[in-house]
Amino acid sequence: MFMTHLECTACGLRHEWNQLQNLCTACSKPLFPRYDLEAIGRVLTRDALATREKSLWRYREVLPLAQDAEPVTFGEGGTPLLRADRFGADVGVSELWIKDESQNPTQSFKARGMTTAVSMAKQLGATKLAVPTAGNAGGALAAYAARAGLEAHIFMPRDTPRANQIECRELGAHVTLIDGLITDCGAEIAKRKAAEGWFDMSTLKEPYRVEGKKTLGYELAEQMNWQLPDVVLYPTGGGTGLIGMWKAFEEMETLGWIGSKRPRMFSIQPTGCAPIVRAFQAGETSAPEFPDAHTVASGLRVPKAVGDFIMLRILRESGGGALTVDDAEMIRITREVGRREGIFVAPEGAACFAALRSLVADGTISRDERVVIFNTGSGIKYLDCYED
Ligand SMILES: *Cc1c(COP(=O)(O)O)cnc(C)c1O
Ligand SMILES: [Zn+2]
Repeated sequence: MFMTHLECTACGLRHEWNQLQNLCTACSKPLFPRYDLEAIGRVLTRDALATREKSLWRYREVLPLAQDAEPVTFGEGGTPLLRADRFGADVGVSELWIKDESQNPTQSFKARGMTTAVSMAKQLGATKLAVPTAGNAGGALAAYAARAGLEAHIFMPRDTPRANQIECRELGAHVTLIDGLITDCGAEIAKRKAAEGWFDMSTLKEPYRVEGKKTLGYELAEQMNWQLPDVVLYPTGGGTGLIGMWKAFEEMETLGWIGSKRPRMFSIQPTGCAPIVRAFQAGETSAPEFPDAHTVASGLRVPKAVGDFIMLRILRESGGGALTVDDAEMIRITREVGRREGIFVAPEGAACFAALRSLVADGTISRDERVVIFNTGSGIKYLDCYED
């Protein structure tokens, strides 16, 4: 294995990877795995990837987990990057792509984070995994924990979409419904985990979900023939995918696989829960908790994110931005995308299509830019939003 240690994203303190870790022991910020990229560069070339399996474990050298350990996997990742010419023509961009993450196991990109995090938690001896979730992370943890033979303890808001609740239950997880938001679910786990023997799998509060999610960046580069797009629109909750992609870009540049050009990264959030947009527009370096968070895009109902300072840095460094979309517009545009492109997108993905229309209309994105939208989940999980 090429992972060498864990490093704090804020204070830089080094931590060992060979025991279960959550946040930095000195400053309580997220930890990033670090690798011996020089050694990886000697054994792995871009061309060698072409012959490998389709799943995200094709990037094994830049992922955690000992080489002789079996990952806990359903074949996640390797999702298609699809042209969206009809929708693109409608809004006036000539090259629009959809990275369709609804084709992952459990129908969302949460599978990417859970394959690496559950594989590592199992290897490091955890037996009971707990997660606060707005919906899809719960379903993914339930599936990967069952596959690993571990217990899953899932805490979700009482008004989480029915599909997520039923999915977790039928996959054998212990589900607790909380009268509150994902932050309240996280607080409940924090309070009880020591006594219960749970390992906290909250995103960015353990070091390995971000590693699975960073493969979005590796796949994007590989599928675009190592030329990153000009613009990425990302529906942002905890921000793990955005942060992970940026980490992947840095690693790939060190490996000599890409140059220094980066896409302009845009965070899209619902009007009813937009802590990152608000902080970005106010010029802040961290995002205070967003009051009275509400939205049908449950994956984006994250009023406070532990990786806020990293996201804000990325949005600014990349020359990107942040934009809100209201719920009614997300729901309306879902059918437009469906009719034009044949994909039943999740409301989170739909938000990016609506945002693209505004960003092109006001000239922030120009028609000759190559744009990638992440459809992070499937509309099928949100049928309650579409009742007629
Ligand atoms: C969790 C989730 C998001 C937000 O992802 P982050 O990386 O935490 O910002 C977006 N869309 C869907 C469908 C989700 O389940
Ligand atoms: Zn620290």
